[in-house]
Amino acid sequence: MEDRFGYGAIVRAMRPEEREEMLGLLLEAVAGEMPAGAEEEPPEACPRCGCPRTVRRGRDADGAQRRLCRGCGRSFRASTGRALGTTKQPAATWARYAEAMLAGATLRDAAACGVPLKTSFSMRHRLCEVMASMLPAFEAGPGYPVEGAVVSTDRQRGYVRALAEMGVAAHERFASSGPRAPLNRVNALHSALKAFLARFGGVSTRRLPNYLAWFCWAREARRGGDAASLLRAQMGSGTYRTS
Ligand SMILES: [Zn+2]
Repeated sequence: MEDRFGYGAIVRAMRPEEREEMLGLLLEAVAGEMPAGAEEEPPEACPRCGCPRTVRRGRDADGAQRRLCRGCGRSFRASTGRALGTTKQPAATWARYAEAMLAGATLRDAAACGVPLKTSFSMRHRLCEVMASMLPAFEAGPGYPVEGAVVSTDRQRGYVRALAEMGVAAHERFASSGPRAPLNRVNALHSALKAFLARFGGVSTRRLPNYLAWFCWAREARRGGDAASLLRAQMGSGTYRTS
Protein backbone atom coordinates (compact mmCIF):
# COMPACT_ATOMS: atom_id res chain seq x y z
CA MET A 1 0.00 0.00 0.00
CA GLU A 2 1.29 3.42 -0.86
CA ASP A 3 2.39 5.29 2.20
CA ARG A 4 4.05 8.34 0.73
CA PHE A 5 2.80 10.73 3.41
CA GLY A 6 1.52 8.35 6.02
CA TYR A 7 2.84 6.92 9.22
CA GLY A 8 5.75 5.11 7.58
CA ALA A 9 6.88 8.41 6.06
CA ILE A 10 6.63 10.15 9.41
CA VAL A 11 8.75 7.46 11.05
CA ARG A 12 11.30 7.31 8.22
CA ALA A 13 11.75 11.10 8.32
CA MET A 14 12.84 10.93 11.95
CA ARG A 15 16.42 10.51 13.04
CA PRO A 16 17.07 7.39 15.16
CA GLU A 17 17.45 9.55 18.28
CA GLU A 18 14.13 11.26 17.57
CA ARG A 19 12.45 7.88 17.23
CA GLU A 20 14.10 6.85 20.48
CA GLU A 21 12.82 9.99 22.19
CA MET A 22 9.32 9.44 20.84
CA LEU A 23 9.28 5.92 22.26
CA GLY A 24 10.69 7.18 25.56
CA LEU A 25 7.90 9.75 25.87
CA LEU A 26 5.25 7.18 25.15
CA LEU A 27 6.72 4.71 27.65
CA GLU A 28 6.86 7.44 30.28
CA ALA A 29 3.19 8.22 29.68
CA VAL A 30 2.29 4.51 29.72
CA ALA A 31 4.02 4.09 33.09
CA GLY A 32 1.92 6.94 34.50
CA GLU A 33 -1.29 5.29 33.28
CA MET A 34 -0.67 1.82 34.74
CA PRO A 35 -2.88 0.57 37.62
CA ALA A 36 -1.93 1.77 41.09
CA GLY A 37 -0.88 -0.72 43.74
CA ALA A 38 -3.37 -1.49 46.51
CA GLU A 39 -1.21 0.50 48.93
CA GLU A 40 -1.28 3.67 46.80
CA GLU A 41 -3.46 6.43 48.28
CA PRO A 42 -6.05 7.96 45.92
CA PRO A 43 -5.78 11.71 45.26
CA GLU A 44 -7.90 13.97 47.46
CA ALA A 45 -9.59 15.72 44.51
CA CYS A 46 -12.03 13.70 42.40
CA PRO A 47 -10.36 12.51 39.16
CA ARG A 48 -13.70 12.68 37.32
CA CYS A 49 -15.05 16.12 38.22
CA GLY A 50 -12.12 17.75 40.03
CA CYS A 51 -14.22 18.43 43.13
CA PRO A 52 -11.97 18.76 46.23
CA ARG A 53 -14.77 17.68 48.64
CA THR A 54 -14.04 13.95 48.97
CA VAL A 55 -13.99 11.61 51.95
CA ARG A 56 -12.59 8.15 52.64
CA ARG A 57 -15.18 5.48 51.99
CA GLY A 58 -14.10 1.88 52.64
CA ARG A 59 -11.67 -0.36 50.83
CA ASP A 60 -11.83 -2.58 47.73
CA ALA A 61 -11.46 -6.36 48.00
CA ASP A 62 -7.72 -6.00 47.31
CA GLY A 63 -7.37 -3.57 50.20
CA ALA A 64 -7.11 -0.38 48.11
CA GLN A 65 -8.57 2.76 49.68
CA ARG A 66 -11.73 4.21 48.08
CA ARG A 67 -12.90 7.80 48.35
CA LEU A 68 -16.37 9.21 47.78
CA CYS A 69 -16.80 12.47 45.87
CA ARG A 70 -19.41 14.86 47.31
CA GLY A 71 -19.49 16.69 43.98
CA CYS A 72 -20.50 13.93 41.55
CA GLY A 73 -21.51 11.31 44.10
CA ARG A 74 -19.23 8.64 42.65
CA SER A 75 -16.38 6.87 44.38
CA PHE A 76 -12.84 6.33 43.12
CA ARG A 77 -9.53 4.68 43.93
CA ALA A 78 -5.95 5.57 42.98
CA SER A 79 -6.25 4.01 39.48
CA THR A 80 -9.53 5.72 38.55
CA GLY A 81 -9.19 7.83 35.42
CA ARG A 82 -5.96 6.25 34.23
CA ALA A 83 -6.14 5.11 30.60
CA LEU A 84 -4.60 1.72 31.47
CA GLY A 85 -5.94 1.66 35.04
CA THR A 86 -7.82 -1.62 34.65
CA THR A 87 -5.31 -3.53 32.50
CA LYS A 88 -4.40 -7.12 33.32
CA GLN A 89 -1.24 -6.97 31.15
CA PRO A 90 2.08 -6.36 32.91
CA ALA A 91 4.06 -3.16 32.26
CA ALA A 92 6.66 -5.07 30.23
CA THR A 93 4.00 -6.27 27.77
CA TRP A 94 2.74 -2.71 27.34
CA ALA A 95 6.29 -1.51 26.72
CA ARG A 96 6.87 -4.14 24.02
CA TYR A 97 3.50 -3.41 22.47
CA ALA A 98 4.16 0.36 22.40
CA GLU A 99 7.49 -0.20 20.68
CA ALA A 100 5.90 -2.43 18.03
CA MET A 101 3.06 0.04 17.48
CA LEU A 102 5.43 2.97 16.97
CA ALA A 103 7.43 0.86 14.52
CA GLY A 104 4.26 0.52 12.43
CA ALA A 105 3.53 -3.13 13.25
CA THR A 106 0.20 -4.63 12.19
CA LEU A 107 -2.20 -5.83 14.89
CA ARG A 108 -1.05 -9.39 14.29
CA ASP A 109 2.67 -8.53 14.45
CA ALA A 110 2.19 -6.41 17.56
CA ALA A 111 0.41 -9.35 19.20
CA ALA A 112 3.75 -11.16 19.15
CA CYS A 113 4.40 -9.55 22.54
CA GLY A 114 2.27 -12.41 23.83
CA VAL A 115 -1.37 -11.31 23.64
CA PRO A 116 -4.36 -12.58 21.61
CA LEU A 117 -5.30 -10.67 18.45
CA LYS A 118 -8.44 -9.23 20.07
CA THR A 119 -6.36 -7.91 22.95
CA SER A 120 -3.95 -6.41 20.43
CA PHE A 121 -6.81 -4.34 19.03
CA SER A 122 -7.87 -2.99 22.40
CA MET A 123 -4.23 -2.30 23.37
CA ARG A 124 -3.79 -0.25 20.19
CA HIS A 125 -6.76 1.88 21.16
CA ARG A 126 -5.71 2.27 24.79
CA LEU A 127 -2.32 3.54 23.56
CA CYS A 128 -4.08 5.96 21.20
CA GLU A 129 -5.89 7.31 24.28
CA VAL A 130 -2.56 7.71 26.06
CA MET A 131 -1.27 9.64 23.03
CA ALA A 132 -4.41 11.78 23.01
CA SER A 133 -3.82 12.67 26.65
CA MET A 134 -0.36 13.96 25.67
CA LEU A 135 -1.66 16.31 22.98
CA PRO A 136 -2.59 19.94 23.60
CA ALA A 137 -6.33 20.40 23.98
CA PHE A 138 -7.99 21.53 20.80
CA GLU A 139 -10.09 24.62 21.36
CA ALA A 140 -12.80 25.78 19.03
CA GLY A 141 -14.73 28.99 19.40
CA PRO A 142 -18.32 29.03 20.65
CA GLY A 143 -19.63 29.21 17.09
CA TYR A 144 -18.06 27.79 13.99
CA PRO A 145 -16.81 29.40 11.86
CA VAL A 146 -15.74 32.00 14.40
CA GLU A 147 -17.23 35.43 13.89
CA GLY A 148 -14.91 37.76 12.02
CA ALA A 149 -12.77 34.93 10.62
CA VAL A 150 -11.71 34.87 6.99
CA VAL A 151 -12.47 31.50 5.42
CA SER A 152 -9.98 30.44 2.74
CA THR A 153 -11.00 27.90 0.13
CA ASP A 154 -10.00 26.84 -3.34
CA ARG A 155 -11.97 28.05 -6.36
CA GLN A 156 -14.77 25.47 -6.19
CA ARG A 157 -17.98 27.40 -6.82
CA GLY A 158 -19.99 25.45 -4.25
CA TYR A 159 -18.26 27.19 -1.36
CA VAL A 160 -19.56 30.63 -2.26
CA ARG A 161 -23.20 29.88 -1.58
CA ALA A 162 -22.59 27.41 1.24
CA LEU A 163 -20.45 29.88 3.18
CA ALA A 164 -22.87 32.74 2.53
CA GLU A 165 -25.66 30.60 3.99
CA MET A 166 -23.47 29.93 7.04
CA GLY A 167 -23.17 33.68 7.51
CA VAL A 168 -19.48 33.94 6.70
CA ALA A 169 -18.72 37.55 5.82
CA ALA A 170 -15.12 37.17 4.60
CA HIS A 171 -14.22 34.54 2.04
CA GLU A 172 -10.98 34.36 0.06
CA ARG A 173 -10.49 32.00 -2.84
CA PHE A 174 -7.15 30.62 -3.92
CA ALA A 175 -5.80 28.41 -6.68
CA SER A 176 -5.74 24.87 -5.33
CA SER A 177 -2.58 23.71 -7.07
CA GLY A 178 0.73 25.03 -8.28
CA PRO A 179 4.03 25.31 -6.48
CA ARG A 180 3.09 28.32 -4.33
CA ALA A 181 -0.60 27.72 -3.83
CA PRO A 182 -1.57 29.04 -0.37
CA LEU A 183 -3.65 25.95 0.32
CA ASN A 184 -0.74 23.55 -0.24
CA ARG A 185 -0.10 23.10 3.44
CA VAL A 186 -3.62 22.11 4.32
CA ASN A 187 -3.85 19.92 1.21
CA ALA A 188 -0.60 18.19 2.20
CA LEU A 189 -1.96 17.60 5.69
CA HIS A 190 -5.14 16.16 4.21
CA SER A 191 -3.12 13.81 1.97
CA ALA A 192 -0.98 12.74 4.90
CA LEU A 193 -4.03 11.94 7.01
CA LYS A 194 -5.63 10.02 4.15
CA ALA A 195 -2.45 7.96 3.64
CA PHE A 196 -2.16 7.34 7.37
CA LEU A 197 -5.74 6.07 7.65
CA ALA A 198 -5.42 3.97 4.48
CA ARG A 199 -3.04 1.65 6.35
CA PHE A 200 -5.85 0.53 8.60
CA GLY A 201 -8.15 -0.56 5.78
CA GLY A 202 -11.29 1.22 6.96
CA VAL A 203 -11.70 3.00 10.28
CA SER A 204 -15.04 3.18 12.07
CA THR A 205 -16.37 6.61 13.01
CA ARG A 206 -16.33 5.58 16.65
CA ARG A 207 -12.62 4.73 16.52
CA LEU A 208 -11.64 7.67 14.33
CA PRO A 209 -10.77 10.04 17.22
CA ASN A 210 -8.20 7.52 18.46
CA TYR A 211 -6.52 7.24 15.06
CA LEU A 212 -6.53 11.03 14.78
CA ALA A 213 -4.77 11.21 18.14
CA TRP A 214 -2.12 8.77 16.90
CA PHE A 215 -1.65 10.80 13.71
CA CYS A 216 -1.37 14.13 15.56
CA TRP A 217 0.90 12.67 18.19
CA ALA A 218 3.28 11.22 15.59
CA ARG A 219 3.43 14.55 13.76
CA GLU A 220 3.96 16.55 16.94
CA ALA A 221 6.75 14.25 18.04
CA ARG A 222 8.43 14.55 14.63
CA ARG A 223 8.76 18.30 14.97
CA GLY A 224 11.62 17.66 17.34
CA GLY A 225 12.88 19.25 20.53
CA ASP A 226 10.13 21.75 21.22
CA ALA A 227 7.43 19.23 20.44
CA ALA A 228 8.91 16.77 22.89
CA SER A 229 8.76 19.31 25.71
CA LEU A 230 5.28 20.33 24.58
CA LEU A 231 4.12 16.72 24.79
CA ARG A 232 5.78 16.36 28.16
CA ALA A 233 4.10 19.49 29.48
CA GLN A 234 0.72 18.15 28.43
CA MET A 235 1.12 14.82 30.16
CA GLY A 236 -1.35 14.14 32.88
CA SER A 237 -3.57 17.05 31.94
CA GLY A 238 -5.66 15.27 29.33
CA THR A 239 -9.04 13.68 29.57
CA TYR A 240 -9.60 9.99 29.08
CA ARG A 241 -12.40 8.21 27.40
CA THR A 242 -12.32 4.46 27.47
CA SER A 243 -14.21 2.91 24.61
ZN1 LIG B 1 -16.50 13.90 41.45
